Amino acid sequence: MQTNVFVSLGILVAGTIATAAFVDEYKSGIVWPQPPVIDAGPAPTAPAPVPSDAIVLFDGKDLSAWEGGEHWPIEDGAATTAKGGITSKQKFGDCQIHLEFATPSKVEGSGQGRGNSGLYLMGQYEVQILDSFDNETYFDGQCAAIYKQQPPTVNANRKPGEWQTYDIVFTAPRFAENGKVEKPGYITVLHNGVAVHNHFELQGATSYTEPPKYTTHADKLPLHIQFHGNATRFRNIWVRENVDPLIGKKP
Ligand code: MG
Repeated sequence: MQTNVFVSLGILVAGTIATAAFVDEYKSGIVWPQPPVIDAGPAPTAPAPVPSDAIVLFDGKDLSAWEGGEHWPIEDGAATTAKGGITSKQKFGDCQIHLEFATPSKVEGSGQGRGNSGLYLMGQYEVQILDSFDNETYFDGQCAAIYKQQPPTVNANRKPGEWQTYDIVFTAPRFAENGKVEKPGYITVLHNGVAVHNHFELQGATSYTEPPKYTTHADKLPLHIQFHGNATRFRNIWVRENVDPLIGKKP
């Protein structure tokens, strides 16, 4: 009896691995035009200033605000991805996010294999991070794309190894009691100071294998930064929560 259980488990595990090895990639079928390449200007020589009401998640010294942060080496004021992703201990809903990243200066690999990481809002809505400087991939998967949903309006990438910025304003989706989407999420993204998404309506969670889909979730959830096997660097990550309009608010 005991043996049979183990044999069954073995088949189940083998089956799962076999399935995982042959997962189908989701493709929207939309034929996007190539985002024009633009020059966003020179890389910043220092981290951007931090507003006084910002919650600092990484100041270049320690990643104690992140689960898994202990696995990312910190050197010269920057953390490098390693071993696994990191997840913020604090949870966020509507917010503004500033983040600085640099893809590896030594160019290796191609397409999705170059400087791949990603910022996941609420752990499930990915703004792609990739070395898209002279590196072709599918347009809704290039740097600053809302992964598999929307390419950036332009390719504002700086060269590999140079510091780049994301400034993001995010409105979290709202769900009704019955789990229906009451209001979708919205995202505005500036890449190196250039608007590449303007109040884009999120279609749901971003996935490599599935079409975008909303699943009811809490009002606030952690941020996540992806580890995708490439040594992408990060510095100066902060969040502001005070982004609600005053209109309609009671005095
Ligand atoms: Mg990614």
